[in-house]
Amino acid sequence: MLDPSDRLKPPFCPFCRQRLEPPVELDGLWFEFDGGVCSCGAHYTLDPTARNGGAVLLQAVVQACGGDWDRAITLSPGTDYEEGFLAGYNALNHRVGGNAFGTIYFVRLKAPAEQPESTGQQQGAN
Ligand SMILES: [Zn+2]
Repeated sequence: MLDPSDRLKPPFCPFCRQRLEPPVELDGLWFEFDGGVCSCGAHYTLDPTARNGGAVLLQAVVQACGGDWDRAITLSPGTDYEEGFLAGYNALNHRVGGNAFGTIYFVRLKAPAEQPESTGQQQGAN
């Protein structure tokens, strides 16, 4: 017994589980799709048609690189960044579920050389 209203949920970030702001038009020559950035640092990009797939994911990587395509194409998923996606997104009501077929792609860069054990040096050497 599913409550229909319970099936439509606000989209959330797969990394930090916070609710997302609706994707917006991005400034930038290369940015074809709407997107945004989560407070945890994950960048997201909306594929409204579910047909753009790789191009949308690539844009999310470029967003995460601050628009630097040269850097973006050198990064590897799983090594340099984490990726995630949220399917069934409806941009009209900013909800997930039902028959919507938009997809939001997420990319969060991994911190370079993040070591759990650090020897004395705290941050600040920058
Ligand atoms: Zn997040």
